[in-house]
Amino acid sequence: MKVVLIKASAPGDFKDYKKTRGGPPQSIFSAAAATPDHYDLAMFDETIRAVNPKKIQADLVDLFFSTPDAMRGYELAEAFLDRKIQVVIAGLHATFMKEEAIQYADAVLTGECENVWLEMLSDAQSGQLKKQYQGSQADLAEVNPYPTHLIPHSDYDGIWSVLVSRGCRHKCSFCLVPGMLGNTRYRPVQDVVDEISELETDWMELHADNLTDNREYALELFKALEPLNINWVGETTIKIADDPELLDAAARSGLRYLLIGIETPSKAALKYSGKGFVKAEKIKEQIARLHEHGIIVDSAAILGFDEHDTGIFKESAQFFHEVGVDVCVPVIMIPFPGSRVYQQLEEEGRILAHDWSKYDGTHAVYTPKGMSASELEKGAEDFYYRFNAPGRYMARKFRQVSQLGVATAFSV
Ligand code: SF4
Repeated sequence: MKVVLIKASAPGDFKDYKKTRGGPPQSIFSAAAATPDHYDLAMFDETIRAVNPKKIQADLVDLFFSTPDAMRGYELAEAFLDRKIQVVIAGLHATFMKEEAIQYADAVLTGECENVWLEMLSDAQSGQLKKQYQGSQADLAEVNPYPTHLIPHSDYDGIWSVLVSRGCRHKCSFCLVPGMLGNTRYRPVQDVVDEISELETDWMELHADNLTDNREYALELFKALEPLNINWVGETTIKIADDPELLDAAARSGLRYLLIGIETPSKAALKYSGKGFVKAEKIKEQIARLHEHGIIVDSAAILGFDEHDTGIFKESAQFFHEVGVDVCVPVIMIPFPGSRVYQQLEEEGRILAHDWSKYDGTHAVYTPKGMSASELEKGAEDFYYRFNAPGRYMARKFRQVSQLGVATAFSV
């Protein structure tokens, strides 16, 4: 049976954001890793290039996408169904909008794929797909390494991705991780090391939603990675900066670029959204410690919390610049279906649009509390120009050159 996995991605700001912040997407690579060798497998990632469904031959197409790409995903699904090819829709959006997704597919697979993947493939092979496959939390000691022969490293600018953990102990109101993946689970350290040792690239994303959630695991992992001489990108909370031993170990193991959810200078918004552990007054000092270890800091500025009014754009641009964030893009809060904030906004009748293509971080798809939707959209643009104003840009580069070196400063 010819099986085709596609990460659907529509052109737009969300696609550009994903492209700059990641290597291989977890969804299709996890599914590919779970597919036995006797299936004839092909894989396409539209974050890299769009596919033409008319040119794809398959017995089964599995489509994965998140909310901003749902319309593109459904367009592809219809094109394959028209050709009598079996279609399964999986991934984040389908998990939380399964009644919608099933209208465009033979079956919907919700949650993590591994525990139901073989059953689904076998049913497809016998032409007997069920309407729904409900995945559950995978045992990460059982997952296979990501295949490297289906999409080359070079398509991801040489950055590869290795799964380390899934899930997070926190429950931020705008985040889908708690609902999709639950609490943090880790792969065995040796499995991660073995997979990295086989790779041809020395730049990679260590994929985790909250990498240092378990301090003892993280210390063991970093120690094991040190001899491999790799450079890595990761995602964790700012709390890593308060733990000198952990931070030293991370830097020695190759941490070069850290994604951290600082989100907003508003203490009230941080507290209400479940990020009370981010202390705005401590951020400058914490980021300075990361810079001392040669680590680039990337955080989005989320705009449009209920605690925000029109003063937030100027305040945020100043804050993110002054605390030393190296890379920062404005994101209008996206109320993803499945998140707490989506449920709240729906209950309050404040969702303005169900056109998922607008859930891309540049559109206000809900009525904000402290301003109008158009003020929010205009303010997000205003943030971008303020944060990147020539004076600030030059000051940032000057600081980065002195703290991180010329090459690193001009790589971001
Ligand atoms: S800390 Fe990060 S991964 Fe965890 S729930 Fe909050 S936003 Fe999501």
